[in-house]
Amino acid sequence: MSGLVAVVSGALLWTLAEYGLHRFVFHELPGGALGAREHRMHHADPTWFAPWTKKAAAAVAVVALLLPVSWLVAGPALGLCFTASFVGMYLTYEVLHRRVHTHPPRGAYGRWRRRNHLAHHFTDPRRAHGVTSPVWDHVFGTSLPRRPVRVPARLAPHWMCGADGALVAGLESDYILRGQPQAAVGEVRAGAA
Ligand SMILES: [Zn+2]
Ligand SMILES: [Zn+2]
Repeated sequence: MSGLVAVVSGALLWTLAEYGLHRFVFHELPGGALGAREHRMHHADPTWFAPWTKKAAAAVAVVALLLPVSWLVAGPALGLCFTASFVGMYLTYEVLHRRVHTHPPRGAYGRWRRRNHLAHHFTDPRRAHGVTSPVWDHVFGTSLPRRPVRVPARLAPHWMCGADGALVAGLESDYILRGQPQAAVGEVRAGAA
């Protein structure tokens, strides 16, 4: 039972860390706080992600910090469960975030995750900081209302657009594409040259 509590606590603490890092470190703290530059690059180009080497280094640093503390507080077995759960959720977050931008939704959770995170990108980057969970946005009052997200066509994920650049059927209640798709912009530029 206490092992389960350690696993659930580690996972819950990750969701809070995910919210806090994204909101304060990546967006609100002035200057180039740890990871903020990479995050700004991801906002400018949502197909760009920080290299896996940096993410692995972050995971190692978290283990080095969290494991001794939780070991001291709860003992070796529970400390290991807690740390493994926290780091496991961090890695899960990395995969789920990437898939928001690279793969179409499957199921209600995938659909919510994409609409919520793309609203953070394209509606208001000061809100919707939770990627895997809406809990802390609700707690801290930074949720965005549920309405179709207006996505600039040139920055739209590939899964959102058909071969003609139009919105894929079935996504109308979640997204509105605006402007010209990347290909069309390129064609216009090529035509003007
Ligand atoms: Zn993103
Ligand atoms: Zn962001």
